[in-house]
Amino acid sequence: MSELTRRRDMDSAREKWSILYRDVCVGSIGLRSSVHNRVDQLEWKCGFYPGCDPGQQTSGSADSFGLARTAFEAAWQRLLPTRAEADIQAWRDQQNWTERKFALWTRGERLASQQPSSLMRCPCGACFDSHVPAENLIHGPHIYAEQPRDGMRL
Ligand SMILES: [Zn+2]
Repeated sequence: MSELTRRRDMDSAREKWSILYRDVCVGSIGLRSSVHNRVDQLEWKCGFYPGCDPGQQTSGSADSFGLARTAFEAAWQRLLPTRAEADIQAWRDQQNWTERKFALWTRGERLASQQPSSLMRCPCGACFDSHVPAENLIHGPHIYAEQPRDGMRL
């Protein structure tokens, strides 16, 4: 598994190892949950999102770490040639965005999309502040004119 490393996933309650290609988590091998003791106790998963196309991520079970590793490596050898550096970067970008988002929330801040806003788009095309009475006087009639005559809102 050249260029692949593994790291214990400490967030998982069961024993699970993340498999990294450089800095990108491309799969895992770990104990299955709630399975009968006569079936394979390990599962492997190969693929990453974003960065893989639908159906490209594969998985399976095995009764030993060695077999799970062999199956993962075979899946990885099929997947890797189909992935470009941009696919790898898509995963990194998503990871960075998620880390920034949680850092923001930890500081008690919100994303711009989570900020309350009194700005509205009027049917006339103007963007106005609904908390400013003078702007409501202008655009209120435009909004009411768009509502059906029976008084029911759409
Ligand atoms: Zn208007």
